[in-house]
Amino acid sequence: MENSTVLNKISAQEQLSILSEVKKDAFVQKLNEYGSLPLKADNPEILQINLGKMCNQTCTHCHVDAGPTRTEIMSQDVLQQCLHIIENNPSIHTVDLTGGAPEMNPHFRWFIQEVRSLKPELEIIVRSNLTILTSSKYKDYPQFFKENKITVVSSLPCYTKENVDKQRGNGVFDRSIKALLKLNEAGYGKDETLQLHLVYNPGGPSIAPAQEALQNDYKKRLKEDFGIEFNQLFTITNLPISRFLEFLLSQNSLEEYMDKLIENFNPQTLTGVMCKNTVSVGWDGTLYDCDFNQMLELPIKNKIVAQTVFDFDSEKLSGRNIIVNNHCFGCTAGAGSSCQGALV
Ligand code: SF4
Ligand code: SF4
Repeated sequence: MENSTVLNKISAQEQLSILSEVKKDAFVQKLNEYGSLPLKADNPEILQINLGKMCNQTCTHCHVDAGPTRTEIMSQDVLQQCLHIIENNPSIHTVDLTGGAPEMNPHFRWFIQEVRSLKPELEIIVRSNLTILTSSKYKDYPQFFKENKITVVSSLPCYTKENVDKQRGNGVFDRSIKALLKLNEAGYGKDETLQLHLVYNPGGPSIAPAQEALQNDYKKRLKEDFGIEFNQLFTITNLPISRFLEFLLSQNSLEEYMDKLIENFNPQTLTGVMCKNTVSVGWDGTLYDCDFNQMLELPIKNKIVAQTVFDFDSEKLSGRNIIVNNHCFGCTAGAGSSCQGALV
């Protein structure tokens, strides 16, 4: 274990009741005010697959509540069904693999190879925590990623050791730098077909700053200090769920944080929130509107639409009502926030 953080102990149901009570129906009212209720999904274009909750880290803001002791791992049966979905739904142009540490799923390599041979042009994203690439079992992964034209997206919440280790655990910064150098060596961040993106999220209860200016700072510091290159920086605001919710409660600052998110609500973000074109798959094959709803155990819920990978139907999923609650203010504050960074 890389961090001594106590694992989140608030159940999904408790989180939902805290979120609902802190600002009663505020997000629903906001959508109503802007004529966007219900929030409707478009055609699924991105299949985001959560390969399991096992991770070699236990970061303080992890919304998955992941860690080395988690045993939930996606089976080969569920992955086989995901392949079937990818093969038969031409609107899906991206497969986004997340976790936990997705590399720790024993079927990870097989699945990527299968996806690549089925759809050579499909974008495959791996959300890698970087430190996993420095352990001996996974050290050849940069090369494997290169061979399969994977887009690598990795969290690095600061370009300084102090801030990264505080949020992600002792020693994480040094190992992340080592992994980034290995990825650069394989051509990532240099060859335009090998995209390497970094993710920033604030260390405390604040909204992510302007993405472009921060990206410039990151590029300058990482290049000058370590010779590291990367493509884009994605800024993400922490959603008030899981370990970050626990952190806010421990600081008695949940209400203040919610007020900040609500004050900064930006209606222009509503057309770009990731639930519009993404379907998120849980480790057991259940379908969700997004990874955050997955962690709150809020599956896609509508009698006429598919609820698991085994009855996936793009047509029925398109136009469904997205399940929202007050955590959605995290996606719609300021410039907005998604797995691909700022929205506007
Ligand atoms: S934030 Fe990522 S690296 Fe950190 S514990 Fe969660 S899944 Fe693992
Ligand atoms: S948390 Fe964000 S992505 Fe998920 S349903 Fe709410 S607005 Fe959509």
